[in-house]
Amino acid sequence: MSLGVPGEILRAPLLHTPRNPFLESGALESYPDGALLLRAGKIAACGDYNEVRAAHPDAAYRDLRGGFLLPGLIDTHIHFPQLRILGSLGQELMEWLEQFALPEEARMAELSYASDTAHRFLHALASHGTTTAMVFGAHFAPATAALFEAAEVAGLRIVSGLVLSDRGLLPELHQTPETAYRDSGELIRRFHGKGRSRYAVTPRFAISASEAMLEVCQTLMQEEEGLRFQTHLNENRSEIEIVARLFPWAEDYLAIYERYGLTARRAVMAHNVHPRPGELERLAAGGTAVAHCPSSNAALGSGIFPLRRHIEAGVRCSLGTDVGGGTGFGMLKEGLQAYMLQRLALNPGAPLNAAQLLYLATRAGAEAIHLEDEVGDFSPGKSADFVYLRPPAGSPLAAVVERAESMERILAALFTLGDSSCVREVRVGGTAVYCVKSDDD
Ligand SMILES: [Zn+2]
Repeated sequence: MSLGVPGEILRAPLLHTPRNPFLESGALESYPDGALLLRAGKIAACGDYNEVRAAHPDAAYRDLRGGFLLPGLIDTHIHFPQLRILGSLGQELMEWLEQFALPEEARMAELSYASDTAHRFLHALASHGTTTAMVFGAHFAPATAALFEAAEVAGLRIVSGLVLSDRGLLPELHQTPETAYRDSGELIRRFHGKGRSRYAVTPRFAISASEAMLEVCQTLMQEEEGLRFQTHLNENRSEIEIVARLFPWAEDYLAIYERYGLTARRAVMAHNVHPRPGELERLAAGGTAVAHCPSSNAALGSGIFPLRRHIEAGVRCSLGTDVGGGTGFGMLKEGLQAYMLQRLALNPGAPLNAAQLLYLATRAGAEAIHLEDEVGDFSPGKSADFVYLRPPAGSPLAAVVERAESMERILAALFTLGDSSCVREVRVGGTAVYCVKSDDD
């Protein structure tokens, strides 16, 4: 049973969603006096403290009551080069790209600047409780390599890749299909499957990828086992019009990626705010995931995501902060923003409960990026990736939690009032990647 290694018991109220709360009630598992048994970087047991303790009397013990354990948060759409343009409000997508995002992306040509950005970016993820992220790299191979290297140092799980474009942006951001193929291949050999890193083939969007570039993406996906794929889809109406002009043969936006075999199970499409009839059914049939980024959708005026239609069609959905089109790194805030926009949606909206928010921010993300056998919840055998949240003393969140009558109520309050000030400890594979020490520990 113990394999000679007693492990470590963490005692705290805990919550996770090992099943899909959009499909079944009771998918939220919670233990008001809970415990995780960690052993060799994995979850060895999860449950009620008394039961876990009785079964593992030799394990080390740490009392974390006063806070809450959640699975590590999973951000499925975010751009590392855009850290410094957070808060560039007031534009829609195409103007925002031109004025803010693309000039900053061009600065990643300078490796020291890119490397500094990567380290700050990873610290921001960890300090917000995010343990796994699917990240758009840079348009430059050295800068993208710097992100992978920084992730290795930081200990976070990163799925990322060189952003591929050969037209329509700034000339300095363009590669040729040949250099894209060569540079991507080198990055894949260096980083894919090494430690906690995975590689994702990453054309920016159809506007900036010629058919020759999309063919390169297809070749890369075919040549290497287990690669992920990420891009943008149906974010903004002007973008969709441009795409339609560039690909007159395509019946809709998704059909472009489909033609190059880029919509299979390992693909994550960001946004899909404006799907055309038929696209949702094809996304569902392909097992393609959609990363919903509500803060970004609101900030860029892209529209309100038709979540209910996605769910009813059977499309996998997860959450992304979309830094820097979004408003920051907080996945709790992103969950709240999803809830808010669905309350306002007329298309009609999907009323979200706390269990669904937790699922979207954890297990759904693991499913989207095909890591659900490793992370996303506290099932025994999974990696010990978690965030420990403790309401700051005297905070409104602390006051709410004190009198909350159920774990579900507490979870809703964590999403509503929780932010990085609550994040006290974050571990990936049982190893701390972020930790705040204070006198009351
Ligand atoms: Zn994006």
